[in-house]
Amino acid sequence: MSHNKQNDEENRDGAAAGLPPAAAHHIPSETNELYGRETGGRHLAALLTDLGERNIYDAAAQCNRCGYCETSCPTYMLTGRETLSARGRNQFMRLLLEGKAKSPADAAEALSTCLLCGACSSACYAKVPTPDIVLEGRRTLSGYGNGFLSRAAVKTLLDAPWLFGLWLKLAYLVKRTGLPRLAARLGLYDLLGMPGLADAESAVEKAPLRFAAELLAKDPALRPQGRTSVNWAYFAACGPNYIFTEVALATVRVLRRHAGEGVFIENQCCGLMAHNYGRLNDAREFARRNILRYEELKAVFGDFPLVADCSSCAAFMKSYEQLFTGDEEWRPRAAAFAAAVRDILEIIPAGKIEHAAADKLETAGRITYHDSCRAAHGQGIRVEPREVLKKLAGRRYTELPESDWCCGGAGAFAFTQPELSAAVLDRKLRNIASVQANTVVVGATSCLVQINAGLKAAYPAAKAVHYSVLLDGLTAEPAKRPDNAKIEL
Ligand code: SF4
Ligand code: SF4
Repeated sequence: MSHNKQNDEENRDGAAAGLPPAAAHHIPSETNELYGRETGGRHLAALLTDLGERNIYDAAAQCNRCGYCETSCPTYMLTGRETLSARGRNQFMRLLLEGKAKSPADAAEALSTCLLCGACSSACYAKVPTPDIVLEGRRTLSGYGNGFLSRAAVKTLLDAPWLFGLWLKLAYLVKRTGLPRLAARLGLYDLLGMPGLADAESAVEKAPLRFAAELLAKDPALRPQGRTSVNWAYFAACGPNYIFTEVALATVRVLRRHAGEGVFIENQCCGLMAHNYGRLNDAREFARRNILRYEELKAVFGDFPLVADCSSCAAFMKSYEQLFTGDEEWRPRAAAFAAAVRDILEIIPAGKIEHAAADKLETAGRITYHDSCRAAHGQGIRVEPREVLKKLAGRRYTELPESDWCCGGAGAFAFTQPELSAAVLDRKLRNIASVQANTVVVGATSCLVQINAGLKAAYPAAKAVHYSVLLDGLTAEPAKRPDNAKIEL
């Protein structure tokens, strides 16, 4: 079956079945829809867990209900409700798959309120992949993406990204006319199929009218033509590309300064939003296109790290192989792609960093580091950014209490679960205030939006800054470029 045909059928299946938005709680009960039945690619064939390849039921059954992860789970800690813990969610999935769930509405609540932060998996001895298990349940819940994330938006982003960009610029232009709420009121963001975008866009002073990908594609120094080797390739994630252009440009400057010369891969969206909001076949299509682009460059340059500057996207791309379990052609290609992906947080060794100038540090004030969930729990990145920040900031660096407590951003969680998101954020803000930080360094654009929105209202003495932007600012004029800039894979 062709990919497009498969996508169309996926869409039709949902519409024909009258699958409602998440609130209507379409959940498989007697029929085990997630396990042992052909689902047209709407679910993963298998999960790649730390204990090996598992089907969804066996993965959920690995949870022995020990409760060791309970105190790591933000939704459990804030509500005290067992059903809103990892143990509760895994239990619900087992019951759903066995056709024994007494209350599909309670199961729906449990699954839709999970932050997908992965703190439970980090704490779990069995490494139960609760976020992936929850997502499998949610895919059915959301009518395979027909609720939150519109098919038209995904299709436009896939096949006509220029049109998606044009529409976004129109919304930004309306904002610049001095009528900041008009774009949201006119439903411009809703028409894009991504209503959470209004919140993200309101986090920047001046929404960009030229996206990072446009600027980087025109930079002759970043083009692959005429070159025989590269030290890195830059992957522009949607946040840095469409909203935080300065993050993308800072990442490229930091890479050139500390890792030598590289290229811009001219990628597509990584597919994370499609993946997290039910559209698995679309996510696979985004992945295939990025894999193909990577393979083109690899054929010319051999191995190189593919660097992204949003931890959510980097973590997702590192898991591309899981999208293609059961697909003999694409699985190894996805695994090779995933092995090349690096988060900017992990790729610059502290040894290559010069000490920052005192006047620049003065402006940054007291610096602390927030562990984005998809960096700490999704990729295991904790040490590398801290080493760099400590080297740069010295005694101005301070550890953030509960640094890996989720900020509540979690993609569009702040939009879909506003009250729970605000409660999760409140604890993060209190921790930031407790160490009197002025600069909170983050690695994911979702955290940038969420933490800055909270700080503006509750603790304006501090600001969240992306890791690349801080590094770029503090190391803008190095004494000399490292002789051996190449970064090994
Ligand atoms: S997810 Fe892991 S730590 Fe949490 S209850 Fe289950 S087995 Fe225990
Ligand atoms: S992913 Fe986060 S919110 Fe969801 S069960 Fe695990 S710790 Fe709790």
